[in-house]
Order: sequence, then structure tokens, then C-alpha cells
Amino acid sequence: MQVLIADDDALSRRVLHDVLVDWGYQVIAAKNGNEAWNIMQQDHPPNLVILDWMMPGLDGVEICAMVRQQVKPRYTYIILLTSRNRPEDIVQGLEAGADDYIVKPFNPDELKYRLKIGERIIDLEERILGLARIDYLTGLLNRRAFMEKLEIEINRSLREGTGLGIIIADIDYFKTINDSYGHLAGDRVLQNVARCLQKSCRRYDFAGRYGGEEFILGFPGVGKNRIQSIADRVCMDISQCYTELPQHGQLISVTASLGVACLEDYPSGNPDHLISAADDALYVAKKKGRNQVVIAKPE
Ligand SMILES: [Mg+2]
Repeated sequence: MQVLIADDDALSRRVLHDVLVDWGYQVIAAKNGNEAWNIMQQDHPPNLVILDWMMPGLDGVEICAMVRQQVKPRYTYIILLTSRNRPEDIVQGLEAGADDYIVKPFNPDELKYRLKIGERIIDLEERILGLARIDYLTGLLNRRAFMEKLEIEINRSLREGTGLGIIIADIDYFKTINDSYGHLAGDRVLQNVARCLQKSCRRYDFAGRYGGEEFILGFPGVGKNRIQSIADRVCMDISQCYTELPQHGQLISVTASLGVACLEDYPSGNPDHLISAADDALYVAKKKGRNQVVIAKPE
């Protein structure tokens, strides 16, 4: 993990630097507050920061206050290093937004474990961010996470001139399952279909839950020539995936209708165009009798 340290005193900067490197951290050292602030404004700055309080230019407490006013995608965990140890100083530092403080000269063991606390907070944030991308019922990407991934993959495909196909799969007559067996049974079916879709994906494909009983799959590197056979296979896999309903002592199966669109046919780069093309194709598949694949054709 990267740690940014800022201290205007060359000797204490050196000491701090060396113990952190010893503990396996990658250390970025700033000679004063302004330098530290500039580093924190770059892309992907360290999330763990140790700031000396007293520095020429911006001091540690001012930096804390400025960081807390910013809206950033990731949290910055700040430990204030200070020779001040009166309770009112400590309160001032914490009030400015520091997460923790250590009194100089620091005790290495204490610093080590206080850094571990910071690491735990940062790891926790990472896990929460990860959970925020997952559909709670099926474990697939949620709609927002799928859209983010799709945008990245579309840009990559356009840049590298490789294909990309998407499939929207909607379970046929799903409402009747909920109506006949109850919502828990419906949830089991969704989970089972999600597992089945995940099995149909290669490592670099991505699958999401688009809405209620609607799933969406992305296939990077797949062009018009291959998407049909993939979609046919997915359609068959779904129809052959049985869900056990223990309360009813029954195995049930479902089918799905699939709408497919390829980036080659909709090269605007706008993910919404691709999705609305697949959505229209899905509508046609439903109209034509369900349990089938329809590929979108540009006008
Ligand atoms: Mg100083």
C-alpha cells in the first residue's frame, strides 16, 4: 500500500520513510505541505497520509480541512504527526478532519498499529464499494456497474477495432412463476438462471441483472459472425437449467427470449444505442413466440 508522508524536517522525514519502507509500504515523501497537497490532487493519490502539523506553507491541519471539503471517489485516511500533545491541540487536529494523531517523537510500534487501523478502514471502503456494484439477489453486476463496464469495453473495442456483442435475456412468463409458486420461488429461479448465465460466460465476459427478470451480458471481442451461436447456446442453456422448489417438491424450468446487438452495427460508441437496439430485438423475439434469439439489424 502507498503512503504519503509530509514533514519539513529532513531528519524526521528520513526516519519515518525508512520505518515505513521496512514495514513494506511504498512511500512518497513530500518536503512540505504544499508539495503534499499537490501530490494529493493527482490521479490515484495514496489513500493513507501522514502529515506533520507544523510545516511552512500549508500545515497539516489546513490540509486536513481542505481534503475534507473535497468530494473524492475514495476516502483519504490522515494521521497527524505532532509535537503538540495538549488535549486542545489534539481536539483541533481531529476537528479539522484528521482520523488519528501521533505525538512526536513517535513510538514505532504505536505508529505501526495506527497505520493498520487506517489500512482496515481503506480495505473496508473497498469492500463496500465492491458490494455497491453487485446485485444482492443474483451476485451479478447491478445495472449501474454493468453500464460502467460496458462503456469501458465499448471504448476499448472501438480503439482496438475488435468486436463487442451484448445480449439482453428476459425470462418468459416469469410472472406466472411468482403467481403460482410465490416470490421466494421466483427468486430461486432468478438465482439459478444467473448461475447458468455465469457458466456461459468466459472469464472476460460480463453479466449483469438489468431489471426484474431481465439479464444482460457483454462479450468483448465477439463480432457478428460469432454472437449468433453464443446467443443460441445461452438460450438453450437457460431452457435446460432446472430449479428445485423444495416446498413444492418440484423441479421447474423456464425459457428466455434474447435480443442481441453488435457494436459493428451500432458503432456510435453510445452504450444506450446498443442497448436500445438489443431491447428492440428482444421485443421482436417475444412477439415471435419467445424462447428464441433475435439479432438487431440497423435500419
Ligand atoms: Mg514540522
